[in-house]
Amino acid sequence: MNAPTSVPFARRHLLRIEGLSAAEINGLLDLADSYVELNRQVEKKQSVLRGRTQINLFFESSTRTRTSFELAGKRLGADVINMSVEGSSIKKGETMIDTAMTLNAMHPDVLVVRHHDSGAVELLSQKVDSAVINAGDGSHEHPTQALLDALTIRRRRGKLAGLTVAICGDVLHSRVARSNIHLLTTMGIEVRVIAPPTLLPRFIDRLGVGVFYDMKKGLQGCDAIMMLRLQTERMHGAFVPSIREYFRFYGLDKEKLASAKPDALIMHPGPMNRGVEIDTVLADDIDRSVIREQVEMGVAVRMACLQALLVPAPNRAAKVERLRTVLFGP
Ligand code: ASP
Repeated sequence: MNAPTSVPFARRHLLRIEGLSAAEINGLLDLADSYVELNRQVEKKQSVLRGRTQINLFFESSTRTRTSFELAGKRLGADVINMSVEGSSIKKGETMIDTAMTLNAMHPDVLVVRHHDSGAVELLSQKVDSAVINAGDGSHEHPTQALLDALTIRRRRGKLAGLTVAICGDVLHSRVARSNIHLLTTMGIEVRVIAPPTLLPRFIDRLGVGVFYDMKKGLQGCDAIMMLRLQTERMHGAFVPSIREYFRFYGLDKEKLASAKPDALIMHPGPMNRGVEIDTVLADDIDRSVIREQVEMGVAVRMACLQALLVPAPNRAAKVERLRTVLFGP
């Protein structure tokens, strides 16, 4: 299989979904879609990123995102290096910016960064020469998660516009929710958030979503249900009375699911807490749960993002060349 050609994506970094146009999102999804088949073949290696260096710099733990960025880079032929805080000089007191500048001096082409503070990845992107991809910053954004969620829905439903999607649970602390709200509303989806008032940001309705405090009401007529983990690591104080009570009112079980469309997709970005936000039987229901498919789409989406940032689409390269000729002569 030949490597799919790139898409026009005239940005240096991928820091957030907010501000991306529907055309940019569709371009990334189309490119990712073309990689799904490749990833199912025995021979997966491409040379699109041969000679490029990708450094994954994770200040916060990760299973899916880090592994899939590593696989994505390797499948496209890049040299990929993983750095985690545990084994780095950050443990000796080096700051994030000093660490980034050190890595910058080694001329990477792309840094994939996860950090526990909202805004930290953007700050880092202003200091380095390489492209930067946000792999999750605090409770701000997780752009590649929203893209992989959208690809999963689009492949299952054949479209995005006109669907209704519910995002349920700890919206307040969730970068997944924020990125998804921006992406899904941009693509013409009706988005609902369902949570106890303590787990919803103030003025969330200003993002163009419907707000529900009752699962059964909020799930009515939904095409997809995104469950969120209770992010206790970001909680200071008590946000729910007890786990048992939380599951009773906001955990997805068979009874609440019955309010959604009969073929509504069950989604979760992982890691899941079974019996807290989702019933274990539903999580594994092969007819309804697309949680593993989300993970599969994650590799394809990350391949597309790396390629779009590092390999300009031919028409974009031609435009740049034309502009250069006009400005500086042939
Ligand atoms: N894995 C997702 C994230 O990094 C969701 C979660 O941790 O609950 O934001």
